Amino acid sequence: MKHLYINGQWIEGLGDERPIINPATEEIITMSKDATSEQATKAILAAKRAFNETDWSTNSAKRVSTLRQLADLVEESKYSLAEIESENTGKPLRESEIDVEDVAGCLRYYADLIEESKPFEKTMADGTVSRVVQEPIGVCGLIVPWNFPLLLGMWKLAPALAAGNAVVFKPSELTPLSILKLTELLEQTDMPKGIFNLLTGDGKVGAALVESDLVEKISFTGSSETGKRINEQCASTFKRVSLELGGKSPLVILADADIEKSAEWAAYGAFFNQGEVCVASSRILVAKEIYEEFLTKLVANVAQIKIGSPFEAHTELGALISQKHLEKVESYLLMGIEEGAHIVCGGKRLQRQGYFLEPTILSNVKQNMRIVQEEIFGPVVTIQAFEDEAEAIKLANDTKFGLAAGVLSSDVKKAKKLASSIKAGTIWINSYHTPYIEAPWGGFKQSGIGRELGPHGLLAFTETKHINESTSLETLGWYQFSH
Ligand code: NAD
Repeated sequence: MKHLYINGQWIEGLGDERPIINPATEEIITMSKDATSEQATKAILAAKRAFNETDWSTNSAKRVSTLRQLADLVEESKYSLAEIESENTGKPLRESEIDVEDVAGCLRYYADLIEESKPFEKTMADGTVSRVVQEPIGVCGLIVPWNFPLLLGMWKLAPALAAGNAVVFKPSELTPLSILKLTELLEQTDMPKGIFNLLTGDGKVGAALVESDLVEKISFTGSSETGKRINEQCASTFKRVSLELGGKSPLVILADADIEKSAEWAAYGAFFNQGEVCVASSRILVAKEIYEEFLTKLVANVAQIKIGSPFEAHTELGALISQKHLEKVESYLLMGIEEGAHIVCGGKRLQRQGYFLEPTILSNVKQNMRIVQEEIFGPVVTIQAFEDEAEAIKLANDTKFGLAAGVLSSDVKKAKKLASSIKAGTIWINSYHTPYIEAPWGGFKQSGIGRELGPHGLLAFTETKHINESTSLETLGWYQFSH
């Protein structure tokens, strides 16, 4: 059971042992042993050594070709990677297959970006040539959650490696399996030993990365609570940090929107990946004129969503990640009812093995309720009616989060105006959910700091160096020296 990968070697963790569970069957897939803090230090030292002693940070052509090699290997292993991902997360196989395609796409995108990148250069008025180069930071600690283990991992890994860094990667303790398989593929590339290191384990292993003086950058995706702690720890040494955190994203449906299509997008926005998506549109805000008709349509749609094993061809909604998480989501339903909300549909577990919960719509909600303000991270959506656009904007912005939003309307001009008033890092007009590798992703307010994807995602793994170049040393004449 060698689940750690340090300096090009598979090693057994010497820490706690934990079962890795299939959430759709509750069966143990395998046992895994966490890294200890000593093993974390070994991985960090191996990364530091590889960063300093190999040509990885300076040889961009090698990085480009290695990333492309890995993309080829990912594509060749598409089905086994997708199967592993679905078995470990409970998500429908068709979704895992899309994730794996995007993983390969992300590698190719950053390989292309590095190949095409040129330093900024300008000759200044005094003849100085000003050159701005992006240099790798050094050892980067990459910490990811369980909802898209491979894809969110690659959103960090591809730009970190493309920029020339060495990395220590820590997946969620619940979902290490697809990253283990990816590591086997990485081994087959020309990447120097020690540039990629993998540590499995829980928050203690992540904390070891955050606390190490040798780790120069932390890129974290996870809850706002953990992100806050990491941000505070990094601040004491000015460690570079990027944070992709939680959300409570609104989907605003204007009175002129097509009700049938809106009801389809609203279900997709809220329940894709069992609602375990940071940008899930977990708050539906709908114009009062169409509220009743829209809700009737939405309920009819949601009742037909097919819940089941990730591997059944017709499955549209899989299992939640764990018993603990299922109980947390259910506790929010109880809390909502106690606060006065109504369960319009769903809300029950499936009577079978696995952590399955029916997609749930909560109405009769008020803005100050915890079910409206806090991230539930499951197949649960609240619905509220608004009087006019001013109220829609007020409700949309009235949480501590600012990750994403959607606006549905047949009047794109009106939707754009509304979008400009919503405080969120990503806004979809007449669509939802699709991330584009070429465009930035991240949050306003307590949804995070920094951006992933696109050129922004690459810059996040670099330091900017400005080199001022004069071709010869002239006499300065600033002081009146007498010789
Ligand atoms: P989490 O914060 O519990 O854990 C995330 C990762 O951090 C895990 O690998 C965990 O082991 C590690 N960790 C825990 N404590 C740590 C510590 N003290 N120091 C360092 N690492 C630590 O989050 P989760 O439950 O795994 O994931 C769900 C959360 O992730 C949700 O809030 C969701 O919104 C967020 N998320 C955000 C995005 C985004 O792009 N903004 C994407 C996906 C998920």
